[in-house]
Amino acid sequence: HHNLFLQFEAHFRQTPDKTLIDTPDGRRYAYGEVLETSRRLAGVLQSLDVQSGDRVAVQVDKSPEAIMLYLACLQAGAVYLPLNTGYTGAEIAYFLGDAAPQLYVCPPARASDANRFYQEGLVVHVESLGTAGDGSLMERAADAEPMTEIACLEADDLAAILYTSGTTGRSKGAMLSHANLASNSRALAEAWRFTADDHLLHALPIFHTHGLFVACNIVLTVGASMTFLPRLDVEQLLDLMPRATVLMGVPTFYTRLLQSPRLDREAVANMRLFVSGSAPLLAETHDQFRERTGHVILERYGMTETNMNTSNPYDGERRPGTVGFPLPGSEVRITDRDSGAELPRGETGRVEVRGDNVFRGYWQMPEKTRSEFRDDGFFITGDLGRIDADGYLHIVGRDKDLVISGGYNVYPKEVEQLIDELPGVAESAVFGVGHPDLGEGVTAVIVAREGEVAPDEAAVQAALADRLARYKQPKRVFTIEALPRNVMGKVQKNQLRDAYADLYA
Ligand code: ATP
Ligand code: MG
Repeated sequence: HHNLFLQFEAHFRQTPDKTLIDTPDGRRYAYGEVLETSRRLAGVLQSLDVQSGDRVAVQVDKSPEAIMLYLACLQAGAVYLPLNTGYTGAEIAYFLGDAAPQLYVCPPARASDANRFYQEGLVVHVESLGTAGDGSLMERAADAEPMTEIACLEADDLAAILYTSGTTGRSKGAMLSHANLASNSRALAEAWRFTADDHLLHALPIFHTHGLFVACNIVLTVGASMTFLPRLDVEQLLDLMPRATVLMGVPTFYTRLLQSPRLDREAVANMRLFVSGSAPLLAETHDQFRERTGHVILERYGMTETNMNTSNPYDGERRPGTVGFPLPGSEVRITDRDSGAELPRGETGRVEVRGDNVFRGYWQMPEKTRSEFRDDGFFITGDLGRIDADGYLHIVGRDKDLVISGGYNVYPKEVEQLIDELPGVAESAVFGVGHPDLGEGVTAVIVAREGEVAPDEAAVQAALADRLARYKQPKRVFTIEALPRNVMGKVQKNQLRDAYADLYA
């Protein structure tokens, strides 16, 4: 009997009066209440004939009730399939067509539009869920017969299909089993020393692995509590820190916190841990945060397909610019891009991972799944990295972002790091653009520090001239307002490549 719900269940029984989720506007939901509501929601799923293995597509704004619906799906053995709230019309139709859910849950304001998905036969039922406990789903739950049994499942049965962020192309549905999620949240809870006394500040979206599985599953695994913020609001975070112990954020959270004059040692006096992930944290942000607060941000590495793979240590050196060591139960190796052979420490190649955390494959993409797995079970992450002499993993960028210029490999991060050190530069992105002689031309965009002037093209090129081999030096450098980022703070180099596609034509 492997239902992930069983990993949380004891807390619902043992601490029914304890708060599981509260909100800045003063709502609180005790464990007992959450269990009661999610059992009713599971009853609603049964009444809508959602069977074990059926998909429940959920595209709603963040709310505690959405977590109760997630729990109801686990309990009932349905496959929870959250969708980015930013998707509209044709995008939703694509995901619904792909996932063929029994039930689609949308915000109340979209319910009448959403009926067209029902009419088009993409879904069997449409219900709505709002952020204030409103919507047809909660109305049904009020009268529903609570489901009390927990679906009896195999370890490999699916708990969720999560779509990747779509940073490098069209989002893929990653099939995650109950065992994948259960083992990873146990490993993380232990690695990061979570206990029932922790209180997490939760300002991430809950349609993504970071906010849903890393954050919520850990809290539920140890019986802790959390405050749900609808989105990142730095002043609100600072208001809440005196009664919180942990923050999980994407790097933007930390750069934005650093912009507030209120961030100091006193503001974080009650906090024990700051975690960063989903995109690379600049070493500079790491250093500034330590200077201002005395806290060393703990960076970890994971992806939709694999949950979390590595983490900097809780005790011991948290090394800036690295993502630490493999979590218990996970293996990481670096292999040659061409031959596939495992590389020794210090050499850069493909990051491959294996373990209980690694997904069951891409939904309805058997070919893609086969091509991303090696025969011995390692998954090819699509990231490039190296393991240093002390065993710390460094992510140097994505395989797809590698620039091959004149037959030589250029790792964008190496160039970006040097540009970022120049006075007046806040951040940069280096990418390849089609070039008639070189195949790809190394190209850079830079963003000026607030209130400062970024160096111009000639100044950047001059500064790099004797610091990088010639083939790594950017042919062109442009200053732009901001790097194109998606909701998880990931730089979308696709967009940069498209925008500058004709540069060398
Ligand atoms: P898609 O696969 O659709 O192109 P995506 O890879 O951005 O999108 P996610 O699964 O959300 O979708 O993101 C996983 C990726 O995020 C990793 O493969 C890695 O490139 C990046 N990432 C996550 N954590 C870190 C980190 N700490 N440092 C650097 N990169 C990170
Ligand atoms: Mg990816």
